[in-house]
Amino acid sequence: MNAKSIPIVPAARGKSAAFEYLTTKKDELAGWARKFSLFPYPFVTACCAMEFMAVSGTPYDTDRFGAALPRFSPRQADLLMVVGTVTHKQAPVLLKVYEQMCEPKWVMAFGVCASSGGFYQNYAAVAGIDKIIPVDVFIPGCPPRPEMVIDGIMQLQDKIARGRHPIITREF
Ligand code: SF4
Repeated sequence: MNAKSIPIVPAARGKSAAFEYLTTKKDELAGWARKFSLFPYPFVTACCAMEFMAVSGTPYDTDRFGAALPRFSPRQADLLMVVGTVTHKQAPVLLKVYEQMCEPKWVMAFGVCASSGGFYQNYAAVAGIDKIIPVDVFIPGCPPRPEMVIDGIMQLQDKIARGRHPIITREF
């Protein structure tokens, strides 16, 4: 009997199915927990800062989304919010901040300047932070309204919930 003709043992198949079920449910649970426990790191460089403050105020209550507490150390944050224009001189700093954040991490480009350079068609401004780091959500507007930022947070939450969250990475 060669290796190809060995029948699959039902018990082994059951164990594999149980593992698959467990990892699927674990992914859902981890996704649910992560999407409601976002810790933003505000990388604020320009006038969009006023709108960031407005979003963080009481009327918009980002606590509803578990995203109310900004962290000012990249090592304690999982959502990098790039708020405002980024110049080529600032680009290495932004990259370093991103690299210091632990996985899993997400990035939000807050406003048109962070998303595409905005109206700064010159040699000094970076034409979108996606030239430097991966971006999960782009928020348009100059500046974006708080409702648009909240919409961006909700889109990010959807993305997190649909993503893979490998905690158990091997069969036991
Ligand atoms: S998008 Fe508009 S408000 Fe925001 S940093 Fe650029 S110029 Fe300022």
